[in-house]
Order: sequence, then C-alpha cells, then structure tokens
Amino acid sequence: MLANIKDILTKAKAENYCVPALGIGNEINFMACLQAAEEKRSPVIMLFMYGKNDIMRFGKWAREQAAQASVPVSIILDHGAEYEHAIWAIHAGFTDIMVDRSKLPFEENMAQVKELTKIAHACGMGVEAELGHVAMGDESVFTRPDEAKRFVEETGVDALAVAIGTAHGAYKDTPKLQFELLEELRDTVPVPLVLHGGSGTGDENLKKACSMGINKLNVAYELYTGAIDSYKNYKESLPENFRSWAPYDLYEKLGEGAKAVAAHHMDLCGSTGKA
Ligand SMILES: [Zn+2]
Repeated sequence: MLANIKDILTKAKAENYCVPALGIGNEINFMACLQAAEEKRSPVIMLFMYGKNDIMRFGKWAREQAAQASVPVSIILDHGAEYEHAIWAIHAGFTDIMVDRSKLPFEENMAQVKELTKIAHACGMGVEAELGHVAMGDESVFTRPDEAKRFVEETGVDALAVAIGTAHGAYKDTPKLQFELLEELRDTVPVPLVLHGGSGTGDENLKKACSMGINKLNVAYELYTGAIDSYKNYKESLPENFRSWAPYDLYEKLGEGAKAVAAHHMDLCGSTGKA
C-alpha cells in the first residue's frame, strides 16, 4: 500500500526501529526491493534520483506497484535540488520529497524548504530535508542540535537528514560516527532522523545508530554492488561457450543480488515484521 514517510517514520520512531530507504536504479531493483519487503513483512522507502530516473514515467509506474503491495511503500524523490524537481515529483505521483538545500546558508535553506513543505503538505506528501552536509567524500559538516530544532520547528518538515560522520558512495575506511551527537540530536529534534550514506558504514555502526534514533537509513551503493556480484558469480559458474537461455537469467541474477542486500538491511534496521 502507498504510505508517506510521515506515516512510516512516525510509527518507527514510536517503536524505536529504523526503515531502510533503498536506492532505485530501474524496474529490476525496484521489484527486488519490493519482494524483499513483502517477504520480510517490512515497510520500505524507495529512493529515486532526479536525473538518474525519468521521474515522470518511472514515478507513475512505481506508484502503481506500490499501491498493489501488501506492505507500506513510500516513493520519495531523493535529493531534489531544484524547485522544479519537487513540482515534477508531485505530478509524477510520488508520496514524498526530499528537499536538499544543505549547501545553502542556514537561513536560505530554511526558507526554501519551508515553501516546498507548505506545497507538499497541501498535496498530502511528506517532506525530508537535510541540515549539516553529508558529502560525497570526507568533507561532511556535522549537524548542530540547536539549529536542527529551530529548522524543524520553522519549516514543518516530517523528517530530518543529519550529518554525523557518514558520506555518500564508497569509503576508503569504515567511518567514525558521532554517536554522542546523534543522542543529542535525538533528544532535541522533534521529528524522525535520517542517515544518508549507509553503504560501507559497517553493520555494527548502523545497528547502533538505528537503536539511537535513526529511523530512516539510506542505502544505494551496496544494492548496486550486490546486484553486480550476484551476476558475476552466476556468469563464472557457466561453462565456456555455453548455449542456453542463460543471457536472460542476467536480469534475474541482478534482482536476486539486490534483494539479498535489501532483506539484510531490513533485519539490520529492525523493520522486519513491522509492516
Ligand atoms: Zn543522500
């Protein structure tokens, strides 16, 4: 069933678990993540990137699939960077938008997020924003609890992505998370907290973060590598010069790899059985 992040994350915060938000690249890994959620009886959040996906076409397709699912499914436009991206997401039938203005100065970030939140809420959608900055490398700017509280109160967002030491993409070493800061944010900020850059952060780190107030965990890179590894293993198992339907199994193997990573994160986040 369709659900927005407000519905999904309010329950997660109240019962102290986390819900995985999974990076979607195409129909194959969307269906793989959906199957994992249905088998695990877990709510799930599907992340769509503007530019990577044709959001008008794909958004409408994803909405139909989500509506038929037996578990709560949110489809969110991840890191919408322009005003237009949010408007397109509304037209495409997304349940939520993530408005990323984290590179802007605090006041400007707040003003732009506030405007889009008003629009999204009028459409029955949830909104996530980001404060501090989760970088593509090591240059994250940590979130300040006092600012985070004011930001949430003024903008009315439903969830807040915080910077506590993770980064997007792949790491050279396992990152060091700021757990004391996370605890302080959890006690200060009135809405569910989100952690971006879950891939490669380490299961122990993530489990701990999920038990300390992170209610939405974004994972993308690991889904892709899981899919590719699954396909590689399959390809290596084939005899040389094979003649069969094997090429068609490619898609299935990619899906199996992504599904396993998705299912693993549902267990890790504690969302298994919470649908
Ligand atoms: Zn992100």
